[in-house]
Amino acid sequence: MSEPINEIGPREQGPLSTFRERLEGAAERAHRGCGLSDMLYVERICAEVAGMLEHVPVELREAAREIAYEFGYYDGEEEPYHEPGTCFLTGIDEHCCPCGRHP
Ligand SMILES: [Zn+2]
Repeated sequence: MSEPINEIGPREQGPLSTFRERLEGAAERAHRGCGLSDMLYVERICAEVAGMLEHVPVELREAAREIAYEFGYYDGEEEPYHEPGTCFLTGIDEHCCPCGRHP
């Protein structure tokens, strides 16, 4: 057993410090399994994080997500905005849109 000499930066204290430690473990596992594929990494880290977030108290989830983003987590909530009544694919008014998804 040796003492860590060079701690890099201050670590979060409190309930989320464990979350970060587990994330580091998850990130390491995800990297190991996927070689150089970023897509696969993101897929794996998302699956791990989704499971981990369920155990995080609701009031801490937002902060926990912020940490997870540092590790490449992506929650898919940043869908492009579209006006109601317009197509989510093209942004064109549904009555004029040529994409064929509108009755
Ligand atoms: Zn459309």
